[in-house]
Amino acid sequence: MTDNTQLQQRRDAAIPRGVATAMTLFAARADNAELWDVEGRRYVDFAGGIAVLNVGHRHPKVMAAVREQLDCYTHTAFQVAAYEPYIALAERLNALAPIDGPAKTIFFSTGAEAVENAVKIARMATRRHAVVAFAGGFHGRSFMAMALTGKTAPYKNGFGPLPGGVYHLPFPNPRDGIDTARSLQALHDLFKADVAADEIAAIVIEPVQGEGGFLPAPPELLRALREIADRHGIVLIADEVQSGFGRTGTLFGIEHSGVRPDLIAVAKSLGGGLPLSGVIGRAGLMDTVPPGGLGGTYAGSPLACAAGLAVLDAITEEGLLERAQVLGERVVARLRIWAERTDLRPIGNVRGLGAMLAFDLLRTRDGNDVDPAATKAVLHRAHALGLVLLGCGSQGEAIRLLFPLTINDAVLEEGLTLLEQALASPGDAG
Ligand code: PMP
Repeated sequence: MTDNTQLQQRRDAAIPRGVATAMTLFAARADNAELWDVEGRRYVDFAGGIAVLNVGHRHPKVMAAVREQLDCYTHTAFQVAAYEPYIALAERLNALAPIDGPAKTIFFSTGAEAVENAVKIARMATRRHAVVAFAGGFHGRSFMAMALTGKTAPYKNGFGPLPGGVYHLPFPNPRDGIDTARSLQALHDLFKADVAADEIAAIVIEPVQGEGGFLPAPPELLRALREIADRHGIVLIADEVQSGFGRTGTLFGIEHSGVRPDLIAVAKSLGGGLPLSGVIGRAGLMDTVPPGGLGGTYAGSPLACAAGLAVLDAITEEGLLERAQVLGERVVARLRIWAERTDLRPIGNVRGLGAMLAFDLLRTRDGNDVDPAATKAVLHRAHALGLVLLGCGSQGEAIRLLFPLTINDAVLEEGLTLLEQALASPGDAG
């Protein structure tokens, strides 16, 4: 029988260590919020393949749509012979996205590609070069996405030189005393010291920072950026790769603020487990790039577009936006109780939007110093107990919850119980 230990040895011998894996389980099978490894051990999945599975593993509607597509064609290259699932999904997103006026959508495969292309479109539309992003943000591992990412280790160190013209502002974080006024002051300082506003092509922001710690961007920051972008002809890009498709209780995280960006980068949960990303944007902007300037051999795979249509059906037909809100409230209430309990490790800074939730492990119950080593220990313990769980945050200090929105109450309770056990004080952990 193939076991986890053997596979780990083969993995270490055959795969470079640059692609790190959070757990030593090797997947055999998965269903909704459950995952089984090659030894038959069952896990509750609170990671959803890093925010990809808002509709769960192998959602029946997604499986049926992909199966039907498999019997027609799997690939033609949209640039060679176009196909309806791509067009139908673009039409659906154009109608749903919080974009002012008519929208158009182009598809790719990964989140990084979506971000890269959003910047390309913004540069072409403005004929400007500079791009402003935020410290702590994550936008991917390709060169422009890496440059935009606001964290050096492990994402940028040693890979330079990176594309120029990228500037970072502090991202508001109550824990560190950074508020909207400070971020905006940094932007005005940037205009004065480094790059004039009329040289800036785009401002890129995650409506809720993902890898950076599940920090919601304050609505007043988003509104101020919209106003500044309008005043100076800057393209406002929302990176909804992690916050999109119902996770926050609305289809796009930015909807909570009422702000309408010019371009939206989407990926992850859009494809329901198949590789799919896209840029949705104002039609006038999207059409500034001449034919041939955008695309990719696999971009907008028919299988993935069929899956994307099924994901949107599932979100609407199964009321997953409301469900995200209900699950979010339930879990926040639980986390707040845990934060008071002296038999658990100290936790705090419970935060997020809808079901995009995280909390920090703290050094002491009455202080606010984070404890990344404790976070690591809790993740380890959760994994050992049978819970697939991920950390996040600039120092790896936070635990993020990304259970499928389709999770049933019993499995959610089971996962929360495992998390509670993982949080037991080291002395009580057994
Ligand atoms: N943007 C955000 C906000 C993300 O969270 C991620 C992935 N974690 C990306 C971009 C990059 O996506 P991908 O890994 O699919 O390239």
